Amino acid sequence: MPADVTMDKIVSLCKRRGFIFPSSEIYGGLGSCWDYGPMGVELKRNVKNAWWRTIVQERDDVVGIDTSIMMHPEVWKASGHVDSFTDPLVECKSCHLRWRADEIENQKCPQCGGELTEPRMFNLMFRTFMGPLEETASTVYLRPETAQGIFVNFENVVTTSRKKLPLGIAQIGKSFRNEITPGNFIFRTREFEHMELEYFVKPGTDDGWLDYWVKQRLDWYMSLGITKENLRLRQHGKDELAHYAKDCYDVEYLFPMGWSELEGIANRSDYDLTQHAKHSGKDLSYYDGQDGERYVPYVIEPSAGVDRSVLAFLVDSYHEEVVEGGNRVVLRLHPSLAPMKVAVLPLSRNERLAPLARDVYRRLCSSFMADYDDSQSIGRRYRRQDEIGTPFCVTVDFESLQDNQVTIRERDSLAQIRLPLEELDEALRAKLSGEAFDATTLWATREK
Ligand SMILES: [Zn+2]
Repeated sequence: MPADVTMDKIVSLCKRRGFIFPSSEIYGGLGSCWDYGPMGVELKRNVKNAWWRTIVQERDDVVGIDTSIMMHPEVWKASGHVDSFTDPLVECKSCHLRWRADEIENQKCPQCGGELTEPRMFNLMFRTFMGPLEETASTVYLRPETAQGIFVNFENVVTTSRKKLPLGIAQIGKSFRNEITPGNFIFRTREFEHMELEYFVKPGTDDGWLDYWVKQRLDWYMSLGITKENLRLRQHGKDELAHYAKDCYDVEYLFPMGWSELEGIANRSDYDLTQHAKHSGKDLSYYDGQDGERYVPYVIEPSAGVDRSVLAFLVDSYHEEVVEGGNRVVLRLHPSLAPMKVAVLPLSRNERLAPLARDVYRRLCSSFMADYDDSQSIGRRYRRQDEIGTPFCVTVDFESLQDNQVTIRERDSLAQIRLPLEELDEALRAKLSGEAFDATTLWATREK
């Protein structure tokens, strides 16, 4: 991340180009809730797809699942969330603002300097009632993590997938935490999306698998373009480990507000399956046919935030630079994450260009997310595509009507080539799927 990337610049770009809007904005917004716009929904979906591809599609030892957000309330007693998923809360006696006690430095209200109450434990789970009666017996929780949906289905998945350990079960979905102090744009919100893998292993092999997954997850971020220097690992101290964890690493990213957690990779030991066996009365042990033993598996859990990842990819790809005597903002997003893969731009709104340009667009959009833009000058349209991170722009000009060729401009190098229309789809496909993404080697001509 270049030193001058501020959160304000990211928030502003996200609003201006349709990535992320404040939720319920016409009513003044709702604290720490955000909506993903036309570009944001594509970026977010691409992040999730990239994770799913690496974690599920390309592995034969991981399967997916999609469990419900509301679960039997006993799940959260067994998991420890009802008793232990709490933050210490203090309230200012003067202005009545509430704070997390462990984030207060001088025991005074950060807003007005007033005196604070004694801390009390505040449970972070959202509670609601299932059915028409608002009574204790019908209390349900919005899940604070997707992991428990995986644990309670462990036996179902092992039985039906016919796979042996080590076996991973992956899930992407919404989680809810009633944070006392959310903030930093989409970094900490009360409603967010999780990408979680629970990887079940034989006890005794768990330390090795933790190291393995830490490396895998770091590599994943870098393979999608995150700068190595902006990532670091931090091992949790014994005093900060969650109640279920034997060991835990955070993958941290250098966000504009400083190093912050992008993903946690925890060794959850056999805590969850043991607890659920106890509370449900079901035997959740596993018979290892190869070793002839029965045991309760240990679990390694890489748990990533979708929204945090989106923010990291935005921050890391954000660049301001001077090209051709003008300033431009460009998102150098990895092609697999870019909301639009290609934009089709007729040189002008001249009616002779439109039919061919529309035809090129129609052909491309069955293969790629493609944008069609004929508003304003070509220069301004290039700048817009740069700001949303579109890797390629295809320009249809008057010459195209004669020779059936179009100009392709590459986002990062600004290299341009002319290409026959019949080769366009294949050329873009090759460029977009290439692991080594360096247009300059193929396309030598600079933008005029
Ligand atoms: Zn106060």
